[in-house]
Amino acid sequence: MIIENLTEFASKKFGQNFLQSDVYVHKIIQAMPNDNLRVVEIGPGLGDLTKELIKVRNVTAFEVDKRLCEHLTTEFEEPIRQGNFELRCGDVLERWESGSLLDEPYHLVANLPYYIATNIILKAFKDELCQSILVMVQKEVAVKFAAVAKQKEFSALSVLASSVGKATLCFEVEPEAFVPPPNVTSAVLLIEKNQSRDDEKFERFLKIAFSQPRKKLSKNLMTVFSKDIVNQIFAKLELDSNLRPHEAETSIYHHIYNKLKDTLDGKQQQSGKLKLSKSRERNTKQFS
Ligand code: SAM
Repeated sequence: MIIENLTEFASKKFGQNFLQSDVYVHKIIQAMPNDNLRVVEIGPGLGDLTKELIKVRNVTAFEVDKRLCEHLTTEFEEPIRQGNFELRCGDVLERWESGSLLDEPYHLVANLPYYIATNIILKAFKDELCQSILVMVQKEVAVKFAAVAKQKEFSALSVLASSVGKATLCFEVEPEAFVPPPNVTSAVLLIEKNQSRDDEKFERFLKIAFSQPRKKLSKNLMTVFSKDIVNQIFAKLELDSNLRPHEAETSIYHHIYNKLKDTLDGKQQQSGKLKLSKSRERNTKQFS
């Protein structure tokens, strides 16, 4: 398949912004973990990053766009035949519904479709076979994952990232490096996992804790949990009641969660009622 006009070809629906820069492709390759594990690439697109990845690793790629699957099957005929490149056509999120993406440990390396980038990263946190995540995303998203406590960007996503490992913002990429150029600056984010975590209840708890990021953490928690219980926990952990959500370390979130998680089951604690207020419903939305 010959693609005459990349801008016309690119599908907005699938978040297609093709990276057209050898410099950044090589910077991504250099940032990869230094071992021989298989690489999973999500959204190989036209195969520019894939071409370099298969020079250094065995690769399995997931691509949703049938036109691109056709293109890649022809373009990578030889590596597919030799067994160092495997292409799976379909929605990667559907593939995750039935367990891990692979049946062996792997590193995720990708220029992600931005409309589902956060969702993909959260799925990779849960996938026990995924050892690390090296992805191009919107800069704002990368900053949220990589922030540390006390930075104003420290968010539920930062807590989740630091609960599975270490997140680093590697470098920024300007819109002009892509065709068509996205409306935002991008950044490459590396998350080196030391464990996986699949705890939907903890995610729900964080949505409550960060529901109003500039308000007090205790007040956010009191929109769902009883005032008495929240005050007791703050006293026990010797926490300042004026603490804002971005000021508490990840370990503090785990301590508070451990004391409240039974309440999140729907059980009521003796000393207070579980309040299911409007703000709780807002909190069920995707992390922002
Ligand atoms: N890797 C290419 C590059 O760097 O130029 C393309 C990156 S483009 C930002 C995102 C790619 O993800 C596109 O090829 C798109 O078709 C693919 N994609 C979008 N949604 C997907 C999904 N749910 N599952 C698998 N691939 C998807």
